Amino acid sequence: VFNSQYFVELHCEKRVCVFGTGDMGRSLGLRLLQAGYSVMFGSRRPQSCNFLPNGAQVLSHAEAAQAAHLIFIAVQREHYDFLVPLAYHLKGKVLVDLSNNLKKNQYPEANAEYLQSLVPEAEVVKGFNTLSAWALQNGPSDANRQVYICGDRAEAKQVVLAVATKLGFSALDRGSLSASRELEDFPLQLFPLWRLPMRIAVGLTAFFFFYLLIREILYAYITQGKDISFRIMVSLANRVCPIVSLIMLALCYLPGVLASFLQLYRGTKYRRFPDWLDRWMLCRKQLGLLALGFACLHVLYTLIIPIRYYVRFWATERTVTQIRQNGTNEFITSRAWHSDSYLSFGILGFGLYVLLGITSLPSVSNALSWREFSFVQSKLGHLTLLLCTIHTYLYGGKRFLSASLYNWYTPPGYMLCLVLPSVVLLLKLLLVTPCVDRNITRIRQGWEKGADQRNSKNNKTLVL
Ligand code: NAP
Repeated sequence: VFNSQYFVELHCEKRVCVFGTGDMGRSLGLRLLQAGYSVMFGSRRPQSCNFLPNGAQVLSHAEAAQAAHLIFIAVQREHYDFLVPLAYHLKGKVLVDLSNNLKKNQYPEANAEYLQSLVPEAEVVKGFNTLSAWALQNGPSDANRQVYICGDRAEAKQVVLAVATKLGFSALDRGSLSASRELEDFPLQLFPLWRLPMRIAVGLTAFFFFYLLIREILYAYITQGKDISFRIMVSLANRVCPIVSLIMLALCYLPGVLASFLQLYRGTKYRRFPDWLDRWMLCRKQLGLLALGFACLHVLYTLIIPIRYYVRFWATERTVTQIRQNGTNEFITSRAWHSDSYLSFGILGFGLYVLLGITSLPSVSNALSWREFSFVQSKLGHLTLLLCTIHTYLYGGKRFLSASLYNWYTPPGYMLCLVLPSVVLLLKLLLVTPCVDRNITRIRQGWEKGADQRNSKNNKTLVL
């Protein structure tokens, strides 16, 4: 205990060293100075270093290594061999490896492990590499408040954790030094969880755009000689957006339903889901947020309908014609009911959609208990899907039966988009029926199919 305490106290002194006077070294040095540390830079050319923060000292590597117990290595990995002759001075010191690579698996071992192999008697900790020099200079903000660290010696990590906290970051211990490759891969990731949802969104948008373009605009041009290409900008977009939104919302809830059926079939929750289902479940939030984005576009496109030239022109034309013919239209109550219900379900669905989006924000979801979060995301989520599906069914109304809508024998887009949500809702309905729900709840509480028989067999063997 005494050794550990002494180690932490010794390394937590206010004097720290930064090797390398490049972008990262300078930014880190500046933040350390602002946090009250006395900073020494170790450089190849201590006499000719420019743009260093005021108050910092610049020494040769050997001098700087001797003067501090905590040393940040802000040098590219390729140049790490300069540390080998310094091994004696670095003995027992904490070296923080900040390095990143240009691509994944660039080297056979992680940079931090390589550094440890060069100076085996130093305590290497990987950390701060997920921050950019710019972020360091500007100080922590919500987006990059987190730093990850890993290392083999707990006391060394404690020292780095203390510095990170002093600099205003919240540090997360990711385990031993063998986790450093994972940390080095972090900055190379480009929205990993958004890739699949983005591809789905782009694929669905492209498919439905061309599908509707052919069966509506090209159809009118070829069969009736009518040029309605202007509809591409608003009408077509306002059809594609809700279609993609509804399908993506259904795709957000389908993996959960599939996972429940898989658990029912296997009779246990202790077997891993197939990789594809795991990946799908992991990106549900992104699928939902993209679906919400398309729903918002649908709302905006709908709101501008009354100010469209095309709509104003036909509304005026119809009114003028009626005045000329001295005609009147009969008010049809059933139509009013239908139109109001269709709009009302849409508004309620969109309201819940927005609520789902808000609760998926980390700042909001962190304030909810697990039960509250799953109530909103699961119960209200399925309710949102139900409301939006009803909204689409009502949009179709009696038109589902009208043969004239099946241009070139193809169904309208909204009919196609109803297939998946209807399937998801039916499957969910099956899951909430009491007998199925009882089984799934037992499985989630740890019950396993065949476990009772196995246990009683084992007990019999023990008795014998
Ligand atoms: P940089 O601007 O190229 O600076 C690297 C520094 O290393 C140089 O200024 C130089 O300092 C020193 N150096 C260069 N060649 C050397 C050699 N042969 N032997 C010893 N020292 C040498 O690089 P950087 O952007 O600051 O990045 C430094 C490290 O931080 C890299 O490993 C990088 O992956 C990591 N990192 C950078 C960022 C960022 O935003 N820039 C973010 C996260 C992690 P002297 O001339 O004073 O010796």
